[in-house]
Amino acid sequence: MMKLEGKTALVTGGSRGIGAGIAKRLAKDGAKVAITYTRGTDAAAQVVAEIERAGGTAIAIQADAADAKAVQAAVEKTVATFNRLDILVNNAGTAIPKPFEEATLEEMDRVIDINLRGVFVATQAALKHLGEGGRIITIGSSVGERMATPGLVAYAATKGAVKMFTQGLAREVGSRGITVNNVQPGPIDTDLNPAAGDWASPQIANTALKRYGHADDIAAMVAFVAGPEASYITGANLTVDGGTNA
Ligand code: NDP
Repeated sequence: MMKLEGKTALVTGGSRGIGAGIAKRLAKDGAKVAITYTRGTDAAAQVVAEIERAGGTAIAIQADAADAKAVQAAVEKTVATFNRLDILVNNAGTAIPKPFEEATLEEMDRVIDINLRGVFVATQAALKHLGEGGRIITIGSSVGERMATPGLVAYAATKGAVKMFTQGLAREVGSRGITVNNVQPGPIDTDLNPAAGDWASPQIANTALKRYGHADDIAAMVAFVAGPEASYITGANLTVDGGTNA
């Protein structure tokens, strides 16, 4: 029996990058998976098709993480479609790299609304449906703990915030058998942080392994935390960063 058989997962921002990797891995492990996205209708459909071709079950829901009503509706649609919710992966996130003093209020609001407020809203909505064995997994960042490069002040602040969100919420829902954890990637090759981009060289230099990671490296950790062997891990910040923060 696959270790997530009978479970249902919602992965926010699952049409590309790390979220797509997580969605495919959870489906491979037996979960029925819903993904959200904003603009990438074709990319989301491709992830669903890939999961279905491999024998899994998935749906894609358009829901901007900054739109509370859309996020709540995405949670309800997941439950209405699959009759349950066991795993929420708060993955949708964005960065607007620039010197802090040049960042506009609108840009700071956008980063906070997606990376932090979106996590609050999705988690509150999901908690109405999660029971014993439920999992809340947020994709923070290694920069939520240590910062080696300029230009990501607001982004790093939101990732530090989801770290403490995780630790705080773990204390509130632990007695219900629900775990809350924060997976903190280092540089992972995606559209947001391409391994060939201008920003790549200093990030590679900061890793111990001298290379970028892959979405599958994060998906493997999320799958473990989502699974039955991780039932005693909660309130943890699990860093998968090639040694960036070593
Ligand atoms: P990408 O930009 O490559 O992919 C983002 C995904 O999220 C896409 O599927 C995108 O779909 C979706 N998305 C973007 N904005 C929203 C939104 N407002 N609402 C819902 N979905 C949205 O990002 P990554 O895969 O690199 O990053 C995923 C997470 O991992 C983020 O939280 C990021 O902060 C974190 N992270 C990434 C690192 C890296 O090096 N890549 C390092 C540390 C953390 P669409 O285009 O359709 O909206």
